[in-house]
Parts: sequence; structure tokens; C-alpha cells
Amino acid sequence: MEKQFVIIGLGRFGSSVCQELHALGHEILAMDLTEERVDAMSEFATHTVRANGTDERDLKALGVRNFEHAIVAFGEDLQASVLCTLMLKEMGVSNVWVKARDRQHQLILEKVGADRVIQPEKEMGIRVAHLLDSDKIVDYIELSKDYSIIELIASSQMSGKTLKQLDIRAKYGCIVLAIKRFEDVNIAPLPDDEVVKGDILITMGHRKDLRRFEEKGL
Ligand code: ADP
Repeated sequence: MEKQFVIIGLGRFGSSVCQELHALGHEILAMDLTEERVDAMSEFATHTVRANGTDERDLKALGVRNFEHAIVAFGEDLQASVLCTLMLKEMGVSNVWVKARDRQHQLILEKVGADRVIQPEKEMGIRVAHLLDSDKIVDYIELSKDYSIIELIASSQMSGKTLKQLDIRAKYGCIVLAIKRFEDVNIAPLPDDEVVKGDILITMGHRKDLRRFEEKGL
């Protein structure tokens, strides 16, 4: 379903969020202080405008209060990003996601009501470390401190066996949510579905169980 987003700050982070949301078919109001950044996003947003995210009049004039989702994508100036977040929440924007530069910034943003705080470099660093840690992990999503979803490559020792035979849930406490085979994705696979070498198993579980499955089960 199409949603409306306002993106404030069109640096590397904001512009990549903008391009991806545009590709997903959403409506976007993209704003930045500089004309150059605004122009660069003109083909990826429904409306682009040069405006200041810390200026209440600018935000009001642009009807930002009518948006359900806002992304505050400038993080270097802590005071400005906190002020912008505060104003968006006061205007009634229900979902405000904000980029933070560090932990202290994150804590302040949470205090003023940010609905989600993102530290892109930190989050990406964690993701990359997990990918580097194992040859078998293709992708990694952290659900909480203890639980994650990882994409694992099925080895030849699993090949030709059904999920029931592999008994991954009982042996390792992990759940196979989907099996990817080239372009096909088998969502919620059944016990009799077979695994073939090279399949990607999208698997959810506790960190420790996933590690055990990766080391012993694959
Ligand atoms: P990144 O690390 O994602 O590239 P930058 O800090 O380089 O982020 O870019 C942030 C962008 O946000 C810049 O294009 C800058 O012009 C814009 N920006 C900074 N402050 C404001 C503001 N108050 N209102 C709107 N845009 C802003």
C-alpha cells in the first residue's frame, strides 16, 4: 500500500532511503537545505523542496503535519536533529525515524519521542562483521539482542533431505522461515519440502542456536 513520507536531509543516507522508497512506489516529500541535493533527488520524489528542517514555519507551510512518516536524515548537527524531531512529534507526525551519530545522540532522540533511531554506520558494521564471520551466512538481520534471522547456504550434506528428515527445529531450536532457490522463494516451507545444495535457508533463532546449526548442521 502506498504511504507518504517526508525525508529531511538528502545526504548519502537520506537520498538512499528516498530512492528506495520511490522504487517501492511510495509518495515522498524530500527536503534539504541545499539546492544541489534537492535537484539530485527530483526524479526520485513526488515533491522536492529547499527548506530548513529546523524552521517551524517551513515545516508548517509544507504541510508536514499531514504526513504519517518522517525520516530525519541529517545527524551531524545534534541540536538541529533533536529540534527537528521534537517539532515533528509536536505537530503530530506519528512515525518519526531519525539518524543519530552516536549513543548519546540516540538517547536524547529517544527522550524527545523519536519512534526509531538509526545509527547507520554502527548497524552496518555489525551486519558486515556477521557476514565476515561465516562463509555460510549470506545475510543477517538482528531482531533483538538474542534473536536474529540469517540466510544460510545449504551444504551437500543436507542435499536431498526433507525438512522433516533434517529436523532442524528439534535438533537446533531454529525455524526455517523460507527457502530460496534462485529466483523462487518457498515461504513457510512444509515438512516434506526438500532441501537442495546451494538453497538459501532463511532461518530464525537464538544467536547460540543459529551458531550451532551453522557449525554442525550445515
Ligand atoms: P550523510 O552522512 O547521510 O551523507 P550528511 O550529514 O552528509 O549525511 O548530509 C546531511 C544532509 O542534510 C545534507 O545534504 C544537508 O544539506 C542536509 N541538512 C542539514 N541540516 C539540515 C536542515 N536543518 N534541514 C534540511 N536539511 C538539512
